[in-house]
Amino acid sequence: MSFRKFFVFGFWLLLTAGCSSQVALNIVPGSASLAPDPSPTVVPTLPVAALVEPTGTASPQPAPTLHPTEVLPPTAEPPAIPGIILFVGDGMGAAHRLAATWLVKGEAGLLIMDSLLVHGWAQTSAVNGAVPDSASAGTAFATGSQTHNRVISMDTKGHPLTTILELAEQKGWATGLVTTVPMAHATPAVFAAHVSDRSNRTEIARQMIANEVDVLLGGGEDDFFSQDENGCYFGIGNQPSGSGLVSVAIESGYNYLCNRDELVALNPAPGMKVLGLFAAEEIPAPISPTLSEMTQTALSILSQDPDGFFLMVEAGQIDWAAHELEAQAVLQHTVELDTAVTMALIFSLERENTLLIVAADHETGGMSLNKDGGGSYRQDGPFDMPDGTQFWVDWTTTGHTGANVPVSAQGPYAEMLAGEYHLTRIFEAMAMMLKGGE
Ligand SMILES: [Zn+2]
Repeated sequence: MSFRKFFVFGFWLLLTAGCSSQVALNIVPGSASLAPDPSPTVVPTLPVAALVEPTGTASPQPAPTLHPTEVLPPTAEPPAIPGIILFVGDGMGAAHRLAATWLVKGEAGLLIMDSLLVHGWAQTSAVNGAVPDSASAGTAFATGSQTHNRVISMDTKGHPLTTILELAEQKGWATGLVTTVPMAHATPAVFAAHVSDRSNRTEIARQMIANEVDVLLGGGEDDFFSQDENGCYFGIGNQPSGSGLVSVAIESGYNYLCNRDELVALNPAPGMKVLGLFAAEEIPAPISPTLSEMTQTALSILSQDPDGFFLMVEAGQIDWAAHELEAQAVLQHTVELDTAVTMALIFSLERENTLLIVAADHETGGMSLNKDGGGSYRQDGPFDMPDGTQFWVDWTTTGHTGANVPVSAQGPYAEMLAGEYHLTRIFEAMAMMLKGGE
């Protein structure tokens, strides 16, 4: 076992020890407490699984810090294939992350996303206002340009803006989009479509297929089937009769999936194209396939491209739950996001040449936390903390706010995401990774 592999093995043990409470726990509705999940499904079986060779001298020495890239020795191995993994917690502000931390790790703990090496603070404003929606905010990190609310990757004059996914395609990289909400919703849309109003989901879906994104995994089959078709889930589609997109996708080489069993049975191969639509609209709880399972499948396919890959993974229902002032669901979706981040971090540590970013598009709900139950507007809780104490979640709005959002990153060019900046900086960091520092 090389030093690097030994280190990653040690770090894997540290991560799995640290995050096992997240992987194996779920939130019990109504009790605001934690209970063991009898069938945890998230197992890091990525290529990194091959690293787990507990033989020889591999008694894990104290992997003392969470700063692995600082101690990796020079290697004679060829440079790893470059990759970008962008996680987006839709609506995930600082309090959403802190609440999830308190729930699973306690006051002194860290989520795995909090353990990344670089942290920053992103302003989220749109051109026409301090409070963005997912369209303008997503356009900022997908294209590097601010625009009006509701606009999907077009400038203020209506011209298309080239997205980081399209730039990656131009370089021959494999590309993928994963989400727990409809695929044609704003956050995935900003990477692969250009429309003046986010509500035009049938056109967004059409552009996504025409754009030949290699891997599309999420909800929202209705936007891909036509009004004379039934998909896997109840009801007809939204596309005009005779214009269903799933058949178009299959004819152009996509593997079409619509349930978890088909996803798990998929045998990832280089160049594979996959359209997986796992609900009529958002994927209902419990999310199946899980965000981690979709992320793992996407990475397993995309990372086989010899040129490089770009993957965006959205935990879209954090925002939806925050609009409903449902703190328990916010916490569950945030913890599920952190589990997917854990898997991607292990993956990126093995490959080295991967830029991993965990961001949000905006804050939803004006969430804050307290420990005395003394909130004044709308309060959820109590939620139990590992030390036996409790906390409450307070809301100030059912909409979005203009609050800055936390950004965490690790890998090449991650240092560009330290400090305070607009969401557009995330595009700039990814573009540098794409250019390879030219
Ligand atoms: Zn929202």
